[in-house]
Amino acid sequence: MFKKILIANRGEIAVRIMIACQTLGLRTVAVYSEADRHARHVRMADEAIPIGPPPPTESYLRGDRIIAAARSVHADAIHPGFGFLAENAEFAEAVGAAGLIFIGPGPAAMRRMGHKTRARALMQLAGVPIVPGYEGAIEADFSEVAGTIGYPVLVKAAAGGGGKGMRIVHHPDRLIEAIEAAQREAEKAFGDATIFLEKYIEGARHIEFQVFGDGQGSVVHLFERECSTQRRHQKIIEETPSPMLDDDLRERMGQAAVAAAKAVDYQNAGTIEFIVDPKTREFYFLEMNTRLQVEHPITELLTGRDLVSLQLRVAQGQPLPFAQADVTRRGHAIECRIYAEDPANNFLPAVGKVLLAEFPTAPGVRVDSGLETGDEISIHYDPMIAKLSVLGEDRADAIRKMDWALRHTIVLGVTTNISFLRDVLAHPVFQRGEVTTDFIEREMGAWQPDTDGARDLALIAAALSESANQRINESAYDPWQVTDRFRAGG
Ligand code: ADP
Repeated sequence: MFKKILIANRGEIAVRIMIACQTLGLRTVAVYSEADRHARHVRMADEAIPIGPPPPTESYLRGDRIIAAARSVHADAIHPGFGFLAENAEFAEAVGAAGLIFIGPGPAAMRRMGHKTRARALMQLAGVPIVPGYEGAIEADFSEVAGTIGYPVLVKAAAGGGGKGMRIVHHPDRLIEAIEAAQREAEKAFGDATIFLEKYIEGARHIEFQVFGDGQGSVVHLFERECSTQRRHQKIIEETPSPMLDDDLRERMGQAAVAAAKAVDYQNAGTIEFIVDPKTREFYFLEMNTRLQVEHPITELLTGRDLVSLQLRVAQGQPLPFAQADVTRRGHAIECRIYAEDPANNFLPAVGKVLLAEFPTAPGVRVDSGLETGDEISIHYDPMIAKLSVLGEDRADAIRKMDWALRHTIVLGVTTNISFLRDVLAHPVFQRGEVTTDFIEREMGAWQPDTDGARDLALIAAALSESANQRINESAYDPWQVTDRFRAGG
């Protein structure tokens, strides 16, 4: 049985995994780059080991140092979290070769699902529907194939992730140019320029299924998450159940998700992503993420299951403690990702010191955060501040609760997307449950924050009050030590 786990990650995910480990009575080991010396995940761990400088020399990608750290403290296992090394088959293999357990799927399943065109071929064999498309290598073929698929087409990187190397093409004139740009981007991001074409499904919805396999013959799903609220092809609000699924479609997609996971003998937690065309109600396999996902808390709220403790259980060779029929759900869960970014300026990431971070507590409200008041958001890492998740009796209740939670979240010192998220929730399209993946670009592109004069006045008043309360050192001899409010520089 595990006694000590090293967590090869940072931020809210490292914190989330540590909570699961610590509540199970396990010791936790953090690793950290120089930029994270004072980070919350380091303060929270029972032991912490430095692994080097921040990017561009990305220490969290240094599998060798992380494995050496795990060995030096006699950890039993490594949890990769998500991002960084979580889907790296070589790392998973190296962990095993070092006599440690990798908490996640086997390297073979990762390899087969990690490459989008390979995964598409595999899914086709398993009878799981895939988006009409083509994986070829000769440029001349591409324009012919794009014509056959029918415009708009989507150029995608085979090794892709994070929306990189993706280009929508509406007209044949733009195809070659888009392919070349996608190839360059993919080469730079993944060291692999292979691209393929897919039918671009307009007005689509992103609906994914949480799956879990125990390597002992049992693979189950824990229902869906709808993640259609996206900016730049990346999720910002997720919810479950999906407002567009009925029981029949849910049942069929759930079965397809389980079949997809079984096709690679999947072990541990994973997600099967589908794209759904709301006009035809057809669904298509998009990709499998062979790891725990950012948005897992809503599945935990809905089903009452702790996915990280299940991951630990399965990694220790134990079977899943329930069958498909035992997976039940209650209510409606929503997650909002609070980012340090400027929604009025193309979601440009913001950096700076968080002068105050306060999150609400209430029944059915959950906060996953890797930072606290005084922490720094740096250019080096993802600018996520926190994930706010709520469980309501039904969708309307969950939306109201989320709005309350967002209103009672205070983050000072950096620009955030909090008021943007509130406006998305209040938008009639969101309220009707009809958000498609192009919604934000289409409906919220011109979004500007409410310029709230009252709030500005309150800030000025607070600053004046602070300054008036400053102690004035009248006994100073040197005029430059007099601490009244005179400033030579204006
Ligand atoms: P990545 O791995 O880079 O995140 P995905 O394949 O998961 O890429 O796709 C990310 C998002 O891009 C999807 O959630 C969806 O919004 C959009 N997308 C991907 N493929 C299609 C498609 N064929 N048609 C329409 N939208 C798509």
